[in-house]
Amino acid sequence: MIKKLLIANRGEIALRILRACKELDISTVAAYSEADRDLMHVKMADESICIGPAESSKSYLNIPSLISAMELCGADGIHPGYGFLSENGDFAEQVEKSDFQFVGPSSEIIRLMGNKVSAKRFAKEMGLPVVPGTDGPIDENLKEEAMKIGYPIILKAASGGGGRGMRIVNDESELEDAIALTQAESETAFGDSTIYMEKFLSSPRHIEVQVMADRFGNVLHLGDRDCSLQRRHQKVIEEAPAIGIPQEEKEDIFKKCVEACKKMKYVSAGTFEFLYEDGEFYFIEMNTRIQVEHPVTESITGLDLVKLQLRIARNEELKIKQEDVVFSGHAIECRINAEHPKTFFPSPGKVVDYHAPGGIGVRMDSHLYNGYVVPPHYDSLIAKLVCRAYDREDARSRLLRALDEMYISGIDTNIDLHKELITDPNFINGTFNINYLEEKLGSEND
Ligand code: ADP
Repeated sequence: MIKKLLIANRGEIALRILRACKELDISTVAAYSEADRDLMHVKMADESICIGPAESSKSYLNIPSLISAMELCGADGIHPGYGFLSENGDFAEQVEKSDFQFVGPSSEIIRLMGNKVSAKRFAKEMGLPVVPGTDGPIDENLKEEAMKIGYPIILKAASGGGGRGMRIVNDESELEDAIALTQAESETAFGDSTIYMEKFLSSPRHIEVQVMADRFGNVLHLGDRDCSLQRRHQKVIEEAPAIGIPQEEKEDIFKKCVEACKKMKYVSAGTFEFLYEDGEFYFIEMNTRIQVEHPVTESITGLDLVKLQLRIARNEELKIKQEDVVFSGHAIECRINAEHPKTFFPSPGKVVDYHAPGGIGVRMDSHLYNGYVVPPHYDSLIAKLVCRAYDREDARSRLLRALDEMYISGIDTNIDLHKELITDPNFINGTFNINYLEEKLGSEND
């Protein structure tokens, strides 16, 4: 039973969690860094507690500080949101050991899925299709392995995440240097130099499947999302459902995801991420947390995913069955960032004037308000604009109308870029893959 929840995150997701708690009558404690005293959810929470200086390593990533915050406030549950400690097995274990409720799966599952090598091996055992590649970390016979897979290949950090720690290798002459570089970068970024290799798929789409599972063995899939529009492996626009994929192919992968969850006794919200090319799905990873793009799924199912997570964490059984989940309409989300529209450099600073769009089918998840100062220390996401309508074209035109209504002055944003993207014929026709956005923007693949 969670009576008081510590919100161990910031920005729009912290506000999102707070809203779900209010509806469930769970009291809230906002854990904030010194740079975040003025965040909207800190003002709205029942209580708030400073967990350290602006630097995330000393606040939002500081496990002892968060555990003591829980003890001090008498909270009995913690929601990690996304990013920060949301997929950190050590943190989940500390929470479990302290007898608090972690809103998410067990530390064991987080660890298993947090390492991409073990996750991939496990997914294969669970019957999910995976990208051809090495079965484990690479150590010797590298050239032979790469030849077997066939160039181009992609080197990936086993502990990587957030689109970092990946390198494409086009032929054998690049291999040795690329391995050394990826291992070194991986050690610096993730404290683990383990890397593995897989076939680089030339023009796949990124399709993911949302699941929700309780402690009683009930598992639901909540459909798919297309997140192919990415820059530097980071998602920019997401939509649900993915278009142009035969329903029977989707049903087959949904079934496999649900079976995998049952086999591993998965609990809470989770996402299976796949690359999709030539009618085949290839598992790339599983996210054991709520994702940034979850609102598109909420928009077409009418379900509140964060509330479901909280109810599951409170040991409640899922009331809905798979046949009760009704998918209706189409939803598209734009990630609005405080960044320069051309250079993509972050644009922190004071929001002078802010006007959120509204009207039918428009959802704004944002912590902005007039006078709020976007700090320079964190991710530049300041809002998620989600539009839902009867079909994709109506959702798209609604989104364009809403982007036009949205007004933010004082800082730079990517609002105009979104307008350009969603009016592009390739977006309108759905002819895009994961390379499309970078090609359009002419930026380099890192
Ligand atoms: P992260 O955990 O850092 O997000 P992922 O493994 O989920 O890393 O991959 C992120 C993105 O990188 C994918 O959405 C895709 O754009 C690209 N990518 C990953 N693996 C491959 C691959 N084998 N071939 C082509 N692109 C890939």
